[in-house]
Amino acid sequence: MTTSDCLPSSRAPSSQPTYHTSLLTAIDSRNHVHLILGTNSLAATRVAQSLAAGAKPILVAPPPPEDKPLHYSLQKHIDDGVLTWIPRRLVGEDILDRGRAEVGRVVDAVFVTSTEDMGWSEEVSRHCKRHRVPVNVVDAPALCTFTLLSTHVDGPLQVGVTTNGRGCKLASRIRREVAAALPSGLGDACARLGEVRRRIQEEDRLATKGNTDVVPAMEEVEEVTDEGVDDSLDQTSSFNKLVTEADLDAAKTRRMRWLSQVCEYWPLKRLAAITDADVDAVLQSYHDTVAGPLDAASTPPSPRLGRVILAGSGPGHPDLLTRATHKAILSADLILADKLVPSGVLDLIPRRTAVHIARKFPGNADRAQEELLSLAMAGVREGKTVLRLKQGDPFVYGRGGEEVEFFRREGMADDRVVVLPGVTSALSAPLFAGIPVTQRDVADQVLVCTGTGKKGLPPAPPEWVASRTVVFLMALHRIGGLVGELTGRVQGEKEDGEGGKRRLWPLDAPCAVVERASCPDQRVIRTTLRYVEEAIETEGSRPPGLLVVGRACEALYTPEKGRRWVVEDGFRGLDLDDFVAPGIAAME
Ligand code: SAH
Repeated sequence: MTTSDCLPSSRAPSSQPTYHTSLLTAIDSRNHVHLILGTNSLAATRVAQSLAAGAKPILVAPPPPEDKPLHYSLQKHIDDGVLTWIPRRLVGEDILDRGRAEVGRVVDAVFVTSTEDMGWSEEVSRHCKRHRVPVNVVDAPALCTFTLLSTHVDGPLQVGVTTNGRGCKLASRIRREVAAALPSGLGDACARLGEVRRRIQEEDRLATKGNTDVVPAMEEVEEVTDEGVDDSLDQTSSFNKLVTEADLDAAKTRRMRWLSQVCEYWPLKRLAAITDADVDAVLQSYHDTVAGPLDAASTPPSPRLGRVILAGSGPGHPDLLTRATHKAILSADLILADKLVPSGVLDLIPRRTAVHIARKFPGNADRAQEELLSLAMAGVREGKTVLRLKQGDPFVYGRGGEEVEFFRREGMADDRVVVLPGVTSALSAPLFAGIPVTQRDVADQVLVCTGTGKKGLPPAPPEWVASRTVVFLMALHRIGGLVGELTGRVQGEKEDGEGGKRRLWPLDAPCAVVERASCPDQRVIRTTLRYVEEAIETEGSRPPGLLVVGRACEALYTPEKGRRWVVEDGFRGLDLDDFVAPGIAAME
């Protein structure tokens, strides 16, 4: 777990790394000129890397002794005409004269591949530094201005690892493990999604021909997406409105939102398997007016009605699944999962089982819900066991109750609809952040509420009770508004309501933002109501997340004086494998 602190002074950086880290960049090296000094196998590797990045390597090295021929791959590149060889020692002018005309002929990078003559390497490094030419000297970190990452390449996808000089073997091992954890086909998926992005932009450009508006960049669009709000709930009226062709501006933003939500929420395995048909189906769903792929009425009825299991899948970590839900996952014929269902849980679904993940994204929430319910009924009529898999607990802000009502209206008897509980994020996220929601002499009650009301209206703010812990779900995207409502009077609020004046919340009430609880990238921001908005703005968001407020936030944690907020990154709450039973330890 890593921690970073925000210092009170506005000039101070918001996070203080414990170790020196580098600025990782990806350099478009097409047509760059790289000087590679040496003829050993490392020189051959550098030449290959340079060529792979589209650069033009020049080998500068005296010919090797007669009995030691030039490395075969270097010789091949020279024979193929893609590598120039200057068969002598480097001179200063090579660095300043061999580059591209557009950068005044200075070369773009220099690689020293041998440690034999350190004095000379130092001289080359000094010369490069003086002329601001990036230089890399093997095994001499002090002489380098940049180092190379251990990389995994899959199509357009590159994953790089550095330990910042702590050992390239270690970096390469970590890179291998990271790469092994990625599903195959991810590179292709990156290419395909990049193509979708281009297509959306191109179509929007054509559709708005004559309109000078610029299509928003993906990054801009991402800023306005909801933050883990479960869009199975109603948002603002515009949020749920079906996009019509007349509403091109909204449509283009929403299609981009779909794309960013797919990237954010789909399990990587599913993303890696994305097909053109998937993409077409979703893009098309903006224009269709009929229900989803399965029309319930046209399904041939089975003599025996199937059943529906509505189950919660917990906050994120698959170990938090109940055994009942796990059994349901293994036995279902059809699984209809919500968008927020954690990928670790989806991974447990047997290969043979048909799965449909809700196509819920801003602008399509109601349609997606209808589609899921019609798929469920179609399955039930075919005699199937249909599992409606929801995130957290199905009855805690999960529309579970409404779904039960729907199935009853469709004529299903109560014994055909089973509801299984799940570990709710409302209680487990505080726990994983080290916040006991109740504790004697600190908090004797807990309130779970939403920060977003129906149709986007803010819900009535609860009053401050010193001994109460309050958990706000679906609140982080409008944190400023929420804090304002808690700490001040809201429009139309009577100074003296029926039950007396609502007690306002103090600005120094301790609170914590808990994001992606129980996931490997869990993050906790500990602060007070006064700084929570600024903290989220500074640190950015990592949906889904919730807000916990109350003295319980400081029951097991003592804030350091003068710190506006503290960020804790990472999750170790379920590393039970680290605890070796004494009996087993004795056997080892
Ligand atoms: N039925 C779910 C809640 C659905 S509402 C449950 O019982 O957990 C969706 C909201 O839940 C999100 O906006 C966020 O506030 C919260 N949430 C869900 N998973 C979370 C997680 N892993 N960490 C923090 N908050 C989470």
